[in-house]
Amino acid sequence: MSRKVQAVAVPEGGFRRIAVLRLSSLGDVVLTLPVVHALRAAYPTAELDYWVKEEFADLVAHDPAITHVRELERDARKVEDLVSMSAELEKHDLIVDLHASSRTRLLTFRQRGVVLRTDSRRLQRARWIHARWTHPQPLPHVTERYAATLAPIGVPVNQAPRVSVRPVTEAWAQAERDSLAPAGVCVALAPGAAHETKRWPEERWCALEAALAGLGVGRMIIGTAAERRALPRLDAQVSASGGAKWYTESIERAAALLGVCTVAVTHDSGLMHLAAARGRPVVALFGSTSPVLGFRPVGEHHTVICRELACQPCTLHGRKACPLGHFRCMTTIEPAEVLAAVQARLSSAVQG
Ligand code: SF4
Repeated sequence: MSRKVQAVAVPEGGFRRIAVLRLSSLGDVVLTLPVVHALRAAYPTAELDYWVKEEFADLVAHDPAITHVRELERDARKVEDLVSMSAELEKHDLIVDLHASSRTRLLTFRQRGVVLRTDSRRLQRARWIHARWTHPQPLPHVTERYAATLAPIGVPVNQAPRVSVRPVTEAWAQAERDSLAPAGVCVALAPGAAHETKRWPEERWCALEAALAGLGVGRMIIGTAAERRALPRLDAQVSASGGAKWYTESIERAAALLGVCTVAVTHDSGLMHLAAARGRPVVALFGSTSPVLGFRPVGEHHTVICRELACQPCTLHGRKACPLGHFRCMTTIEPAEVLAAVQARLSSAVQG
């Protein structure tokens, strides 16, 4: 359904001080970057600040379009902290709220500058999870929803997300890739996700990793230290084999590693969006969520594996356990199917 756009008066000479707010999470921050880059193109001399939780600041810290990253510290997120921080936003003549959460509403409450807020489509998303019998339409991709936020000021958003890293980090990642894969063909595996029902079972990751080893391609396993601890068999297998290595690195380094791999295999996770935003083809495994919620990887050169069961999606973000007990959304995805998808992407990447 098309929504009416109410134009907002743009000051003569354009906006001078712009703040973009998206406090979390990794994938969502990645998907805001087309808006950031469109604002920079429209207002090349403006100060452009990005507000984000400190754990995700590394993702935007090296983006040349951003003047300053305002990090929200872990211990400064209470209501009283946010009220006092909101004073910092008073100098901005344009605030773009791409989170639309209670925190960002508090930060933008009674600001004098223009406030543009994304339409979170919470009700439509909730219909997909809780009231499927009402036949909801698939949601637009999140990047389209974010882009629509700038419609009132007439700024077009037409680029895909791109994440910047420093040249020194790029060089480090290339050296890592070359140490694993002298022929240059390397697959990144991202076996983590915040919620259990988004994770493909460990023994399947082990089977995929072993099959890739058999093909002679390098394997970079990327995830947090907690994800590594949660996958002890995969960790042991990787440690014992040549051409493979676990990386528990900063977001910038993870972005650099994903940028030098040939193909990435991920869940529906922040690393899925990060790999796509580094221009790499992704094989994405969807469990309890679904692309209909608007979160498929951006671009044409990806393979989404999603069973589209009647119960899927059963959650927006993920659960601790399958409410039906069988977890078929993930357990019916076989390593051979994923391997075939990876091989298809590998051969088109090598030919391209
Ligand atoms: S099998 Fe269905 S109910 Fe169970 S976690 Fe997957 S999508 Fe949810």
